[in-house]
Amino acid sequence: MSARAQADERCLRGVAAAPGIALGPAHVLDGRPLPIARARLDEADVPRELSRLRVALDAAASELESLAATTPHEAAVALRPMLDAYLAMHRDPLLVAGCERAIRDERKGAEWAVRDTVDALCAQLSAVRDPYLRERAADVAHVGDRIVRALLGRGGTSPVVPAGSVIVAHDLGAAEAVALLRAQVAGLVLELGSPTSHTAILARTLQVPVVVGVADAVRRVPQGARVVVDALRGEVRVDPDEAATRGADERARRYGHFRGRLRAHRDAGCATRDGLTIALGANVEQAAEAAHAVREGAAGVALFRTEYLYLGHAEPPDEDAQARLYAEAARALGPQPLVIRTFDLGADKLAVASEPLRAANPALGLRGLRLALTRPDLFRTQLRAILRAAVEGDVRLMFPMVAGVADLRAARSLVERAVHELAADGLPHRRVPVGAMIEVPSAALMADALARECDFFSVGTNDLVQYALAVDRGDPRLAALARAHDPAVLRLLDATARAAAARGVPLAMCGDMAGDPRTLPLAIGLGYTALGMPLPQIPLARAVIAALDADEVRAIAREALGLATAEDVEALVVARLGPSLHAIWEEQGLEN
Ligand code: PEP
Ligand code: MG
Repeated sequence: MSARAQADERCLRGVAAAPGIALGPAHVLDGRPLPIARARLDEADVPRELSRLRVALDAAASELESLAATTPHEAAVALRPMLDAYLAMHRDPLLVAGCERAIRDERKGAEWAVRDTVDALCAQLSAVRDPYLRERAADVAHVGDRIVRALLGRGGTSPVVPAGSVIVAHDLGAAEAVALLRAQVAGLVLELGSPTSHTAILARTLQVPVVVGVADAVRRVPQGARVVVDALRGEVRVDPDEAATRGADERARRYGHFRGRLRAHRDAGCATRDGLTIALGANVEQAAEAAHAVREGAAGVALFRTEYLYLGHAEPPDEDAQARLYAEAARALGPQPLVIRTFDLGADKLAVASEPLRAANPALGLRGLRLALTRPDLFRTQLRAILRAAVEGDVRLMFPMVAGVADLRAARSLVERAVHELAADGLPHRRVPVGAMIEVPSAALMADALARECDFFSVGTNDLVQYALAVDRGDPRLAALARAHDPAVLRLLDATARAAAARGVPLAMCGDMAGDPRTLPLAIGLGYTALGMPLPQIPLARAVIAALDADEVRAIAREALGLATAEDVEALVVARLGPSLHAIWEEQGLEN
């Protein structure tokens, strides 16, 4: 083998999912599914298998309960919603009834019934384009594994791992991850997973560096080998030589200082060098994250994605349950705003909530507001819940995937109707500002007309990029093409910002462009001074903004609008902002 090939073999590439750098001995976990028997049952054995299934479901659920009870406080906020979701899966009628049916009708033993039912649910979820939902397929698989383990009497045994080691595994469920992270592991390397997985979210909260998507890691990393997890660059080095070890130590130390400085400034507000104030709000998916947003110094919640309340459950949540949840988040935020987005379900996503609607092209099908308008029962429940929760704080309501004025008007009239109904029912409620997400190119082009009919705009660049450039946001092969730098996207953002400014409509951006250190300067330059991003990105965004000059980024944005390609825009940004942002980009591993 050549020296070059050897070096490559020792440097494994993946995706950074929780930032940081770790160094330690590898602890490789063999995560292969336990073998199970696949023999048909006699009829007489059916009751026994049904009862084994029930006992195993209870045992797996109570294991999770005790894990939750013994979780350290700093992880509890991030963890509770995940464990709740896992617990709900144990009791999910789709799963339980599916397993029972397989035992009763197909005469499968309990282990076989669980494996097959879970595989079928996973296949359904994996077919969905939304990356978050695909991730939930992994959660269902982990829950299935726990139940099978309980059936085989192998439950409750979290692997014992020495503190300071680097875990290398095929994949980890959130529950396993908690047990391991509690053991103070230095870092994680996974063959599967993604930055939106529960494990990655948890690791970010606990500040454990993670690299996911490392092909064949379990085979390629020898047990006990020294490993550097570079979760800034998305690299894993096996058996680094002395120079590489020193380099990793030095980068880890610098990164530690960098994070320390960022956190020290979390209460300092956020402004550019020349004093332009920028509001940095959090994007959240769970009500419990609102309290965390306050602690991190976020300017409220810029985007509460509510579709996850609906997914993975046979029944959508009822009005009282939703109102309680939204009220909890509003109370946690005090005077800070809580922007609740009504459900952005798509035809394929709703299938998970027991309504199998098939669309050949779901991204262009019945999704977002378009779907909500065809389901006034579901929509009315959510609107009433939001209006009721509004008595608890500064709640605002936002519609996803607005395509134009007609659907905005239809949705607003349903809000009006809900207000009147609540008054007639004598239930406490409050009128709230109503905003439109601008994420469909037609909405950006009609922003002047939309601005006359709503109270604020929030631009979703993830979908705007997808639709403007005809690039599927869920297809990893196209990731390099899905760029907010593209002048076509910038022109849509500019048209939206101008329309908002002309009518005095508050303007925000809550897509990924807002939290990316390479693109957020352009957003500010185009006039976006309220940005929403996942919580862990806020400290970094604050540091980037403090290094910017508002006049300069405005000039850069104006110039970018006249360029021809995304590459040209990127080169302009690097040339003009490199001198002030170089150090930050480099710390984040963005310059390779
Ligand atoms: C977006 O499209 O940019 C957005 C914020 O919404 P989501 O990512 O939930 O589709
Ligand atoms: Mg969107």
